[in-house]
Amino acid sequence: MPTLKPKLAMYWAASCGGCEIALANINEALLEVDAHFDFMFCPCLLDTKRADIEALPDKAIFLTLFNGALRTEENLEMAELLRRKSQLFVAFGACAASGGIPALANQHGIGHVLETVFRTSASADNPQELIPGATSPVPGGELELPAFLQRVLAVHEAVTVDYTMPGCPPEPEQIVAVIRHIASGKPLLGCTARAVCD
Ligand code: SF4
Repeated sequence: MPTLKPKLAMYWAASCGGCEIALANINEALLEVDAHFDFMFCPCLLDTKRADIEALPDKAIFLTLFNGALRTEENLEMAELLRRKSQLFVAFGACAASGGIPALANQHGIGHVLETVFRTSASADNPQELIPGATSPVPGGELELPAFLQRVLAVHEAVTVDYTMPGCPPEPEQIVAVIRHIASGKPLLGCTARAVCD
């Protein structure tokens, strides 16, 4: 039987995964999340796919927590899709809010970023020196990545963001407070469009 609870989605774009860990770290308060929301989409934590979202009517999701910056065309498409399907869209964490660490790559060209990540960094373990090439300007690659945007974007540069939760990642108490407040049906006090909630 379909649940009547409001739908909750969480998505990671150019992200380290720390924002999902922060959500998991709210521990027993996850039971409150489950009590109030149908947590129906989170590719990092749940077995869910993009098609699950595409099948929904517009605005069918009550709340989307979107973490990570926009590095690739796929990141951008997911931000646009989730924005369209969501009533409330929250930029969750520093990378979504401002570009964060991924946006440091904006100081360099895409070719230099790939060369550093796959070949010259101390942590590169790539004896064949393969570089994703199908969609990058670096020739000779055999792997594939989604096409890169010309620069890393904060999420609000691409879609309308209703609220921003700062932090790298947001603190568990902060996450619980915002989720309880939203679940209570009250407006987020002092928050207007693209407000910072803390
Ligand atoms: Fe990771 Fe921090 Fe970015 Fe979240 S805000 S994805 S924890 S780097």
